[in-house]
Amino acid sequence: MALMITDECINCDVCEPECPNQAISMGEDFYQIDPAKCTECVGHFDEPQCVQVCPVNCIPVNPEHVENRETLWQKYQRLQQAAQPASGAGGAGGSTTAGA
Ligand code: SF4
Ligand code: SF4
Repeated sequence: MALMITDECINCDVCEPECPNQAISMGEDFYQIDPAKCTECVGHFDEPQCVQVCPVNCIPVNPEHVENRETLWQKYQRLQQAAQPASGAGGAGGSTTAGA
C-alpha cells in the first residue's frame, strides 16, 4: 500500500529526508506522498520510516492505493532500476529475466 499524508500534517520536515524512495515532497499546504514511489518502505526497511518519525501520526494507508507486498516489491525493483544507469556497473548478480 502506498501511504498518504493528511491535513493534520504540521510540516515539521522530519519525514521527507527519511524516505528511501524520495516519495515525500512539499505539497501546496502540507507534505504529500507520491503513490507511484511509496513502497511502504518494502525493500528498504521493515517499517514505514515516515510513520515511525511523524510526531502527529498523520500518515495512514492511502485507500486509493491498496497494494499487497508482492506489488510493493515489484514497485521497489522498478524504482531501483529507474534510479540506476543501465550501464551494468557492478559485479555478480543482475539476472534480468524478461518475464511477465
Ligand atoms: Fe517513503 Fe516509506 Fe513513507 Fe512510503 S512508507 S513515503 S516509501 S518513508
Ligand atoms: Fe507532516 Fe508528519 Fe511529515 Fe512532519 S513527519 S512533515 S507532521 S507528515
